[in-house]
Amino acid sequence: MITNERVLSAFLQISREKFVNSDAVTLAYQDHPLPIGYNQTISQPTTVMLMIQLLEIEESHIVLEIGAGSGYNAAIMSKLARKVYTLETIPELAVFAKNNLLCSQISNVEVIHTDGKQGYQEAAPFHRIMVTAAASEVPQNLLAQLEDQGIIVIPVGNPYGCEMLKIHKIGKEFKTSKHGLYSFVPLV
Ligand code: SAH
Repeated sequence: MITNERVLSAFLQISREKFVNSDAVTLAYQDHPLPIGYNQTISQPTTVMLMIQLLEIEESHIVLEIGAGSGYNAAIMSKLARKVYTLETIPELAVFAKNNLLCSQISNVEVIHTDGKQGYQEAAPFHRIMVTAAASEVPQNLLAQLEDQGIIVIPVGNPYGCEMLKIHKIGKEFKTSKHGLYSFVPLV
């Protein structure tokens, strides 16, 4: 399913065991989501990879992620992009993500404790935006903070059956394609 060589190489550079809770280290290399506390999860590796592949990240890109969680997704994207901003509402998880990224010696990711539905105007516009929680609809602020020719990947709908959307901004138009059904924690 993952055919993009750059994406595969980024995946191989990150140790998932550094992004899971200490009692789950032996499970880190199974292809499953795992609890990270606060009713949240680190996503299944296959899902992370498929979403990153859909995002078509280039070396010069500034990427925004909504839902830092463990920081794992941001860590992989940090190997593909110039800079990654990742937003998290739960303060303890923002700290967890920050520490995990530090332990992996990653310095081009900034973790910000804030409501991601507003986006991050301070660093906008972004070439790419990735949302890692199920949204009831696409937040307009995120579309507004996307560069022309930008792409946003976002699961939309019911948390237990949300559709993965890839939205391409072309001038004032948005072209949407659908990429299957997934389960995600809700975007709150
Ligand atoms: N990308 C993460 C997994 C994300 S789980 C990883 O690689 O581990 C989804 C995360 O989105 C949770 O941590 C949850 O707290 C966060 N979240 C939910 N709603 C949010 C919002 N409005 N703004 C920012 N983060 C949010």
